[in-house]
Amino acid sequence: MLNKVVFLGTGGTIAGTAQSDSDNVGYKAAQVGIDKLLESLPALQRALGAHLAETEQVMQVNSKDMVFAGWQLLLARVVHHLARPEVASVLITHGTDTLEETAYFLHRVVPAQLLSGKAVVITCAMRPASSAHADGPANLCDAATVAVSPLRSGVMAVCAGKVHAGVYIQKVHPYRLDPFDSGDGGPLGFVEEGEFRRVAALPEDLKGAAQAGIERLVTANCPRVEVVVSHSGSDGAIIRALQNDPINMTEPLRGIVVSGTGNGAIHEGMEVALGQARQAGILVWRTTRCAYGEVVLGSGAGTGELPAANTSAVKARIDMILALMQ
Ligand code: ASP
Repeated sequence: MLNKVVFLGTGGTIAGTAQSDSDNVGYKAAQVGIDKLLESLPALQRALGAHLAETEQVMQVNSKDMVFAGWQLLLARVVHHLARPEVASVLITHGTDTLEETAYFLHRVVPAQLLSGKAVVITCAMRPASSAHADGPANLCDAATVAVSPLRSGVMAVCAGKVHAGVYIQKVHPYRLDPFDSGDGGPLGFVEEGEFRRVAALPEDLKGAAQAGIERLVTANCPRVEVVVSHSGSDGAIIRALQNDPINMTEPLRGIVVSGTGNGAIHEGMEVALGQARQAGILVWRTTRCAYGEVVLGSGAGTGELPAANTSAVKARIDMILALMQ
């Protein structure tokens, strides 16, 4: 019954083109349609085996420009296709810049029952399709291998032979072909010679969302949540500016996630301004700007301390948006 893989194109470098095949940075992302990406790839059919490919261009964007409405559109299509009995997996092509945010968002909201025996697999590229060293084709084939593997589960991302959990993946390098890391969680596995070798399972509570109300989620307005970084010299001016200058804000400011130093610490100047923001009803969370680990709460944590999120700031922003939408 599960004989289809639906490829959803969203853009990114994997669909990018440059003037010359040696240009790997001066290209334009999101130029080539998903049909075309699959067309010139006979190895993909081998990876898919008996499965049929179906394609849909959901959007065509450079993922640095992703917006919440884009996630809503994508979520609606993912949910639609996963609910089809013949669909084994949904495979999304995406830019690398915000891949971790899209993966985390989908991980948080795609209902677990739709993922039973199925997966959402996201892939990408660091070199444009026009490059003499394009990595998109191999990544697409690896992602297809994972999409049809009996070991697939949940929201996963495939790049440079590694399979990352959607909840853990983060971009850690701006140029190399293997730009992602899964932090302390490590990768879920590897694709080697057309085989998915899975080395890790996800903890039970991370296997999929029990999120109800998808209909509302795909149409609701996104509450405005901003991310700020605490650094030397953070005197709180940015917080006051956010609160006092709603001119360009279509949605009023509802929350702030602070990417704090070390164990989620915040500069004293910024802390004062955040206290005032909280008094004005703005939700404030803190997290760490460190690449690894999460804020560790000791028993001595004062009651006045800000709530700490256990993800990166951009992922905590997604959690806060979802919390504010409840
Ligand atoms: N700016 C590109 C994007 O995220 C980068 C990439 O795909 O590698 O769409």
